[in-house]
Formats: sequence, C-alpha cells, structure tokens
Amino acid sequence: MYFTQTFIPTLREVPSDAVIASHRLMFRGGMIRKLANGLFAYLPLGLRALRKVERIIREEMDAIGALEIKPTVVVPGELWKESGRWDSMGEAMLRAENRTGNDLVVSPTAEEAVTALVRDELSSYRQLPLTLYQINTKYRDEIRPRYGVMRAREFVMKDAYSFHAGQASLDAAYNAMGAAYRRIFKRCGLSVLPVKADSGAMGGNSSEEFMIESEIGDNTLLLCESCGYAANVEKAVCAHDFDPPPSLEEAKTRSLSSPALEKVSTPGVKNIDQLCAFFKTDAKKFIKTLIYRMAAMEGGAGRGAFVAAAIRGDLAVNEAKLAAALKASEAVLASEAEVERITGAPLGFAGVAGLTGIPLIADTSVTAMTDGITGALADGFHYAHAAYGRDFTPHLIADLRTAKAGDRCARCGGALYEKKGNELGHIFKLGDKYTRSMKARYLDESGQSRTPLMGTYGIGLDRTLASVVEEHHDGDGIIWPLEVAPYQVILIPVKYEGALKAAADGLASALEQAGVEVLVDDREERPGVKFKDADLLGIPYRVVVGDKTLSLDPPALEVKRRGEKGCRMVELDKAPALLAELVKA
Ligand code: ATP
Ligand code: MG
Repeated sequence: MYFTQTFIPTLREVPSDAVIASHRLMFRGGMIRKLANGLFAYLPLGLRALRKVERIIREEMDAIGALEIKPTVVVPGELWKESGRWDSMGEAMLRAENRTGNDLVVSPTAEEAVTALVRDELSSYRQLPLTLYQINTKYRDEIRPRYGVMRAREFVMKDAYSFHAGQASLDAAYNAMGAAYRRIFKRCGLSVLPVKADSGAMGGNSSEEFMIESEIGDNTLLLCESCGYAANVEKAVCAHDFDPPPSLEEAKTRSLSSPALEKVSTPGVKNIDQLCAFFKTDAKKFIKTLIYRMAAMEGGAGRGAFVAAAIRGDLAVNEAKLAAALKASEAVLASEAEVERITGAPLGFAGVAGLTGIPLIADTSVTAMTDGITGALADGFHYAHAAYGRDFTPHLIADLRTAKAGDRCARCGGALYEKKGNELGHIFKLGDKYTRSMKARYLDESGQSRTPLMGTYGIGLDRTLASVVEEHHDGDGIIWPLEVAPYQVILIPVKYEGALKAAADGLASALEQAGVEVLVDDREERPGVKFKDADLLGIPYRVVVGDKTLSLDPPALEVKRRGEKGCRMVELDKAPALLAELVKA
C-alpha cells in the first residue's frame, strides 16, 4: 500500500481530552477519529490493527471449538423482558421503538439473543456442549466515556456463550476459554493479571477478570504479597479482626450484660471524626448507617428501592458487594432529601436502632457489636450502647466491607496491597440464570427434561488494542508487536523519484509477493518528516531506500526495528526474503 493512496492523517497536535498515550498516539497516528463523545471511527490504519486483534481472537476461539455466528446488533426488547434485564440494565442500555411500536435494544451484551437462538434449536443432550461466539458491535451508554476507545459507548466485543448438560462440561469449557484468553493476550504482547471478579449484574458464580495494570485503571485490585491472592476490590475479602459472627441467639444472650440503650444529645455532631471527638472514643465503636437507592433488584423490589447499610465506623461499605448481596445491578447513595424523608432526621443521624420501613443490611462487623454508638434518627441525637440482636436485627447480614491495602489476606494472613487495573476480558460461569428464565430445555439420556448450564465470555477488542499501545510505546510513538501491527514493514524512499522510486516500487512488490505487509511512504515530504511519522505509526520494520546505500556494491538498504537502537545493512536482492523471515518471528 502506498501512503498517498491510503488515508493516514497524522497530526502533531492532540485534543485536550486525550490524556493517555494510546488515545494520543492512535489519534495522532491517524488511526481513530472522534465522531461524538464515546463514538470513535477507525480510519484504515487503525482498522488494520483492530483486525489483527480480531484475527488472533478468532484463531484462538476456533482452536477451542467455539463456533462463530453473527446475531444482530439490534435485538427485540421482549428477550430482555424475559430474562428480567429490561429493568436491571438501567440506563446503560440503549433502547428504541420501531414504527410498529416494538421495543428494541442495541445490544450491550448478548446473553439473551444467544440463549433465545439456542433455546429454539435445542432438544437433546447430544447437541451439547455448544459454544457460540461473535465478534460484533456493542453499545453501552456509559456515563463517562473516556480515554479514547478504552471506554467508549460503541465498541467491538468478542462475546462467547457456552451451553452444557452438566457442571463438569461447563467447568471444562470455562477452563479452555481461560487458557485461550491467556494465549490471546500473550500473542497481543500483553501481560495480563487474571483476578477473581465481582459478578455484578450478571448473577451466577465463578468468574475471572483479565486485568492489565494501568495507572488510569478503573478497577482497584487487591493482591496478597504472600499467597498470590488477587481480587477486584468489588469482591475482595479480607480477614476480620473480630471473632466469627455470633448467631442471633448468642448475640441476644451476650447483650444482656451490656448497658441499656441510651439516647444522648449530640447537637451538630454528624460525621465519624466529630463523633470520635465528642464521645472520646475511636471509630470502631460506631455503627455507621448509610441509605442507598438500589437499581432494580432481581425478583424483588423494582428500580428505586431504598435500603439501609450498616457497618463498623472505621470501615467502608463496598457498594458492589452491597448490590451483589441484594442481587441488584447498582447501589447509589441516597440524596440528602431522601435520607431525611426515610430516616426522619437530617443527614448524619441515621442509625440502626428503631429504624423502620426500610430493610437493614449489616456488614458482619456489626454483629460483633454489643455496645455501639449509632444515630438516633432524630436531629441532634445518637444512641449509645446499641447491641446487635437486642436493639436492632438486620434483615440480612453480608460481607459489605471494602478491603484495602494493609488489610490481612483472608486466605493466608499476608498483607494486601493495591494496584489499579483495566479489565480486558471476563469469563464467567452463569449456571442456569438465563437458560432458566428464558426456558431453554433439553432431554437428557434418560429422556428427562433439563435446563442447560451456561457460561459467558467477553473480550473488548478496542480496549485490548488500546492496551497494546499503552504497553508498547515510547516518546516518539507506538512500537507495535508484530502480530498486531497494521503493517509489518514501512518502506521509506528518501525521495520518491528516479532510481529511488524504481528501487522502492520493485522492493514493495517483491515484499508483497513474499507475503509481507508493506506501507510505502511515497509522500513528497522531507526524510525527517517521514522518519518521525514512521516512529509515530510504530510499524515494526523500517526500510530506508537511499542514494548512498543503493550506490554501494552490491546495492543495499537500511533496515531498522522500531524500538531498537541500531540498524543493519541488507543487500537489496536479499531484502524480500530476509524481511519475510523477520516478520514471521
Ligand atoms: P467495565 O467494568 O470496564 O465497564 P464490564 O465489566 O462492563 O467492564 P464486560 O461486561 O465484562 O465489561 O464486557 C467484556 C469486555 O468488553 C470488557 O472486558 C472490556 O474489554 C470490554 N468493554 C466493556 N465496556 C467497554 C467500553 N465502554 N469500551 C470499550 N470496551 C468495553
Ligand atoms: Mg461496564
């Protein structure tokens, strides 16, 4: 391909919102352009790189026997109503109505569509296991699209769905998928960190996220120094510094010896610091009570239900754990006005004793408290000596605690530390969540009707590509790993005329014949400009066709690997075979 025949609008300037290297370099390198917030177009060079990632993924999916299909991007809303996610997906899901009044969804993911396809064809256990995948457009109306294609609204995902007649079969597919993911990321030149993940709105059980360490990562990961435990903070557990939670009966007995609940006047004392100073004690003595609005809870209250979450004063409520405990997609702190309406007191005086009309969810830490201080649901008052089982009984006790650096590992007691990460892929055992709600059935060997088990597995192509750039660049530009590079060789005639032009053209066609992907910079630009752009575009091998080396006997070329210092002289005649060899490496 000739530079002047394609469309690679390189730039020196970058837009101010391009704060990370991949966004800046893909933009400057003429690979992507922004159409609107969160909507990016790939130009020819960017698309070639994206296609390379796609090829790697396709090869690895095919290698484990996954079958490629192409469902539609727009799917009937009916399917989402069947699964129950019409409500729980919230505003991230883009919906529309067509001219006949049918609800439509622009796929944010495709469990529903694929389950519906399989349901309609499935009859016998002999058809299982079955793993289907697509590499297709997704749309999520992200609140804050940012970092270029890392978090866009429209993006490409490889999403696979597997269907099974038993747990062992699901386990095997899940493990094969995990191994394929490891190979995919390795081939892309990425060092990923597999971690246990929060199940979020998906529901189900076992799952693993493939994270890449990144300063701008949206995920906080907790890792154990000693045993290698790695988990997303949304799910990370840590060792408790209190005895195992007592049963309610035990707690009641225990609280008999505690002083009685006492209402204390605490004018203007609202937050934990002020409380500590007022009561002259430390944060561990307090029962913090927070009011949350939950996005639709499965099989329960609809969108907008409120709950109270209680936790020991020195700890923080983990909203992802709270949402997961209630099978809701999201937990959002209630507004000041909502808190006032629900608790009957201004913000800062919510508490567990005497709280009515709203479910109370308590962290396990609270069950160890026999003499806690908590808001008295009245302006300017707190209760002292609140005891679990006597003064308050939560509707649900769960692990709601946010693990943090310095906490002890629940597995081995080692110290936990934090890293920021970005999720590139996710594998997940769903169990029968969708197959059950969407009534997929098959007949087993003995003719019994059963619900198949299911797994779901996703990789974001755009985010993977951007992460490759994050991991492989320097001050001058991108340094593509060979397998992902949009072209393998960039051929730079220092001047595209006369003997240089003839040599460049001859070499280009010889390279193409040898199966090498070559971009010829035939622009009427100074060599310096071409070299700068070659560094920016990051094509692995740069071949310079210049007068000096061509006039040598035998005529030669300068070959340089992007990212390495020196260059080598290669005889013109031998160059195609040598480069064909090099790009295979
Ligand atoms: P995140 O927590 O980053 O929003 P997610 O948990 O919503 O990710 P999944 O639903 O598991 O992601 O989707 C599978 C993959 O799709 C992700 O691992 C990621 O690579 C990609 N992906 C998800 N959202 C986006 C987005 N807004 N832009 C680009 N890629 C995305
Ligand atoms: Mg998301």
